[in-house]
Amino acid sequence: MKAISILGSTGSIGCSTLKVVDHLGDLRVVAMAAGRNMSVLAEQVARFKPELVSVDTEEHAKELMRLLCAGAGGAGGAPRIEYGADGLVSVATHPEAETVVSATVGAVGFIPTLRAIEAGKRIALANKETLVMAGELMTAAAANSGAEILPVDSEHNAIHQCLRGERVSEVQRLILTASGGPFRTKTKQEIENATREDALDHPNWSMGEKITIDSATLMNKGLEVIEAKWLFGFEAEQISVVVHPQSVVHSMVEMIDGSIIAQLGVTDMRHPIQYALTYPDRKPNCLAPLDLCKLSELTFEEPDLERFPCLGLAYRALREGGTMPAVLNAANEIAVKAFLDGKIRLSDIAAVNESVMNEHVSTAADSLETIVAADEWARTRAIMKTETAASAA
Ligand code: NDP
Repeated sequence: MKAISILGSTGSIGCSTLKVVDHLGDLRVVAMAAGRNMSVLAEQVARFKPELVSVDTEEHAKELMRLLCAGAGGAGGAPRIEYGADGLVSVATHPEAETVVSATVGAVGFIPTLRAIEAGKRIALANKETLVMAGELMTAAAANSGAEILPVDSEHNAIHQCLRGERVSEVQRLILTASGGPFRTKTKQEIENATREDALDHPNWSMGEKITIDSATLMNKGLEVIEAKWLFGFEAEQISVVVHPQSVVHSMVEMIDGSIIAQLGVTDMRHPIQYALTYPDRKPNCLAPLDLCKLSELTFEEPDLERFPCLGLAYRALREGGTMPAVLNAANEIAVKAFLDGKIRLSDIAAVNESVMNEHVSTAADSLETIVAADEWARTRAIMKTETAASAA
């Protein structure tokens, strides 16, 4: 049985991954890491019996142990429990794991994912922020160790499928589709005044809070543009975004002869997760197939960079290169959290991101230390700017 580790097992992607594991029946979960949701984690431990578990803090480790001893963990040997940054790395580099599902959210997944790559594991990558902040370092590490990075993000997973058997030299451009999020048809003022609930109400996908807010600002698509560069080796000019509200076409590849190859499917992350776990094989999944005859229309629009400036900021970060994408990512994580905490308006997210980028002089992002330093600097600046925005609100 192939063994896997999961970083972020209690999250939206983590839970979907475990459903795929259940469905496939030929995978063994040897290690899992979560943050603070100990009740869900205890149930997962009972069901999947990993050898190693990691949680956010020592207190969470004690709480998990209590739950497992009280029976929430069910029968079977108790796992080894670790915590914090070292625990995440232990899960990511578990010696038996062949594949690591990287599905924590934000920069916390960066070092564990990098260590898994260095250890030569196959990475099923959902945690896009890691590639955004350190794409050069991670792809160089993968080239060194022979680790394969398979995209779980549905758009990149679609492109991976479209590129199967194609010559990269014959590709004209990658076309990422975006649903447009809940504010696709809203005015600038409506977006400015959007509440937390409005922003979390995604029309097509059910996901964790951070990516849902990123989808509302189109920052998510911007992060995906940067992710696409590192996964597939294309420059900013060769990566386009089209808004496709139905989210049926998950993304496309345009060839030099004008042919466009698309991947279509249902909006359920179990689909790309299973693809990444079984690649290069395909296996039947447990989802209802896409019924083409029930689709009334497939439409495509240009994204509006004026109402959604975060997408333009991501292109700018990609063009400037070096540490700029890491700075944008860090500022955005702080700004999204401030919005979710009710401190700033939705439109302040782009303003904070842009202002932090304007202060940054990008340098080569070729070492762990440089990237961590840029990330920390950007977080400090973004915290100050969100406080200023909060007091002005
Ligand atoms: P969630 O917020 O639902 O889950 C995040 C996971 O990370 C949880 O298991 C959480 O644990 C864990 N976590 C958070 N902080 C820590 C920490 N300090 N230490 C250890 N674990 C931690 O996010 P999603 O599943 O939605 O997204 C995960 C990643 O996948 C993101 O990068 C997102 O952009 C990407 N992605 C998600 C998609 C989706 O459909 N959800 C689609 C495509 C990409 P806990 O809950 O226990 O605190």
